Amino acid sequence: MSKVLVLAESREGSLRNVSFEAIAAGKKISGGGEVVAVLLGDAAGEQAAELGAFGADRVVTVEHPHLKQYTSDGYGQALMAVIEQENPEAIVFGHTALGKDLSPKIAAKLQVGLVSDVTDIEGEGDEAIFIRPIYSGKAFEKVKLKDDVKFITVRPNNIAPLAKEEGRAAEVSSLSVDITNLRTIIKEVVRKSTDGVDLSEAKVVVAGGRGVKSADGFAPLKELADLLGGAVGASRGACDADYVDYSLQIGQTGKVVTPDLYIAAGISGAIQHLAGMSNSKVIVAINKDPEANIFKVADYGIVGDLFEVIPMLTEEFRAVLS
Ligand code: FAD
Repeated sequence: MSKVLVLAESREGSLRNVSFEAIAAGKKISGGGEVVAVLLGDAAGEQAAELGAFGADRVVTVEHPHLKQYTSDGYGQALMAVIEQENPEAIVFGHTALGKDLSPKIAAKLQVGLVSDVTDIEGEGDEAIFIRPIYSGKAFEKVKLKDDVKFITVRPNNIAPLAKEEGRAAEVSSLSVDITNLRTIIKEVVRKSTDGVDLSEAKVVVAGGRGVKSADGFAPLKELADLLGGAVGASRGACDADYVDYSLQIGQTGKVVTPDLYIAAGISGAIQHLAGMSNSKVIVAINKDPEANIFKVADYGIVGDLFEVIPMLTEEFRAVLS
C-alpha cells in the first residue's frame, strides 16, 4: 500500500476529465493506499470538493497569483514543495500538454523513471504493470517501474474514472509556497478559433481531411459534431490547406485522441494520421476511394461523397436523438 499524488488539471474554472481518470489510475497504483490530489492555481481551493467525489482521499492545494497560468517554473516549484511534504511513492499526471511538459522535468530532477502515455494498468500496487502504445500505436508495451518514486502520465479517455460519489469529501489542506525566479510570466492567453468541446477529451470526434475541400466545407462536419456533443478535428492535409487551424490537427505531429466514436471524412489514412486516432473505440470512415488506407482501420466504412453522406448521417442522428 502506498501514497500516490495525482496532479489535477483545470481549464477555465472546471476540472478536466483526465484528472478523474488519473485519480482512478492512482487508486490502482496505491494498492489500497492513499490518493492525494494536488491542485495548483490562483483559486485552487474552489475545485477541491469534486476531487473527493471522484475518489481522492485528500487534496493539497497551492494557491499563488503566479499559478494562475501554467509555467513549468511556477508549477515545478509548487509541485516539488508538495512532493517534499508528502513523500509519495508515485505521481500521476494526465498525458496532456501540461503533463507532457512538467512530468519529465520533475522526474529528471528526482532522478527517477517515467512511464508516459499509459492507456491501461494491469495489477495493483508494487505489482502494477503499465501498458502504453509504441510505434505510433502499432504495438503496445508493458512496463514495470522499479524506482522508489514512480512517474506516470495517463492518456485521456482510456482509464475509466471511478463513479462519482456525491457527498464523499476529501480532507483539504493548503500549502504555502514561495514562487520565485520565474523565467516566464504569462501576460495574456489568446484563445485560438476552437470553441466547445475539448478535442483531446471529446467522446465523439468528426474529423475532416483534404477531401473537405474548403473552410466552408467543414460546416456540415461541425453541425454533426455539435449534434453529437463532440468536437471537430482535422488531418494535416486540411490544416496545411488552411481549411482549419492547426490546433485541430490529429496525428503524429498533432493531437492524439481516443474518443468512443471517430468519424473520418475525406481523410486518406496516412500512417501519420493513424498515429493520432487508431485507438479510437469505433472508427467510421467516409471516402470516395474504396482503396483508401483509412478503411483498413475503420470498423464501418462508407464509400461515398462526404457532402452527401454527412448530411444524411446528421439527419438520421437528429431523428434518433429527438
Ligand atoms: P489526402 O491524402 O489528400 O486525402 C484526401 C482524401 O479525401 C482522399 O482519400 C480522397 O479519396 C478523399 N476525398 C476527396 N474528396 C472526397 C469527397 N467528396 N468525399 C469523400 N472523400 C473524398 N498528417 C496528419 O493527418 N496528422 C499528422 O500529425 C501528420 N504528421 C506528419 C508528420 C510528418 C513528419 C509527415 C511527413 C507527414 C505528416 N502528416 C500528418 C501528413 C500525412 O502524411 C498526410 O499527408 C496527410 O495526413 C494527408 O491528409 P488527408 O488525408 O486529409 O489528405
